[in-house]
Amino acid sequence: MKLHEFQAKRILEKYQVPISKGFMIEDPDQAKEIYQQLQSKVVAVKAQIHAGGRGKGGGVKLARSAEEALQHARAIFGMTLVTPQTGPTGQLVRKLYLEAGADIKKEMYLALLLDRDSSRLMFVAASEGGMDIEELAKTDPEKIIQMKIDPLIGFRSFQARELGFALGLSSEIHSKLFSLCQGMIEAFWKSDASMIEINPLVLTQEKQLLALDAKMTIDDNALFRQKQILEMRDFHEENQLELEASQHGLNYIALEGEIGCMVNGAGLAMATMDVIKLAGSEPANFLDVGGGASEEAVTAAFKIILKDPKVKAILVNIFGGIMRGDYIANGILGAIKATQLKIPLVVRLQGTNSKEGLAILKSSGVAIETAETIDEAAEKVVRAAKKS
Ligand code: GDP
Ligand code: MN
Repeated sequence: MKLHEFQAKRILEKYQVPISKGFMIEDPDQAKEIYQQLQSKVVAVKAQIHAGGRGKGGGVKLARSAEEALQHARAIFGMTLVTPQTGPTGQLVRKLYLEAGADIKKEMYLALLLDRDSSRLMFVAASEGGMDIEELAKTDPEKIIQMKIDPLIGFRSFQARELGFALGLSSEIHSKLFSLCQGMIEAFWKSDASMIEINPLVLTQEKQLLALDAKMTIDDNALFRQKQILEMRDFHEENQLELEASQHGLNYIALEGEIGCMVNGAGLAMATMDVIKLAGSEPANFLDVGGGASEEAVTAAFKIILKDPKVKAILVNIFGGIMRGDYIANGILGAIKATQLKIPLVVRLQGTNSKEGLAILKSSGVAIETAETIDEAAEKVVRAAKKS
């Protein structure tokens, strides 16, 4: 689960990571009042969406008066912010964060994440932070520093010094960096985070370190014990189809292609996506209807697939194990009726009662192509999509 910047900052400041004073608002007209409350000449007005690169897209603006804060707030609120991370459709801004401005001397990059190769937490840092870290990773990857944390001895002050030198910070700042890093680590563990990214981490003219931006992702598998964090979930920021799918107990992930997939079992779903690619097209989604998919679930799955305007044809690839093929076939027919399906459908049924299932589909009179093997199914559905 992703968090907004203002939410990540509320968590980080609990663990002594230095953050400027700020308030989130959902009504731009409050901006004047907040500007005054912040008692800072410069106030940053920042769009809150679950994507980075807001600065580049016009979602971060500095105000030097209450009037200007209001103007910026009104301009940013309600805009569809397009950034390199939102995709071309952008994201509607429904929340703003107003924060006391910082007098920046230097912008750096600091992130904490799990390094899966070594199974350790790892800091990733760069002395050139700010808006172009992705660019830096491409052009000068050697400028990106990695520092692993030994789970037994923890993060030590010598590591903070090493990190400090690599970031180009003078030694008087190193103890501040040490405590900031410790705060990040504690916040990471206590919140069951999978990533904390501070970009930029700034050194101010007053020689303070400050987390000017904060991104935090929480491990979904730990949400059951993170009640407070779960309350921060913002459904508006999530893919609406994925949300609807999760309400029906379906595992659905939206993708960019044109072939809608309905499959049972994650492994088969992955294999199906592979064969679609091999057959020369791209899947529009990953969808695992689960082992005991009912007619309702199958209907819900069809509805969700069909809401994606990119879908040109659907491939149903189901292996009847616990579920019987005849039962699945009736589910598919029911779903076709309920959704008034108009695009081509290819079905591959295998496993328990698959013969009975295929016979039901054939005798239904509904235009369904059937396939025996997974390759045949992929070829048929890709051909149908190209035609339609
Ligand atoms: P992002 O573009 O979504 O990563 O948003 P950030 O919060 O990182 O803001 C983008 C950029 O705006 C930062 O890299 C800073 O250069 C600038 N910025 C943000 N807040 C302040 C501030 O308080 N003072 C100043 N001078 N610049 C700021
Ligand atoms: Mn940033």
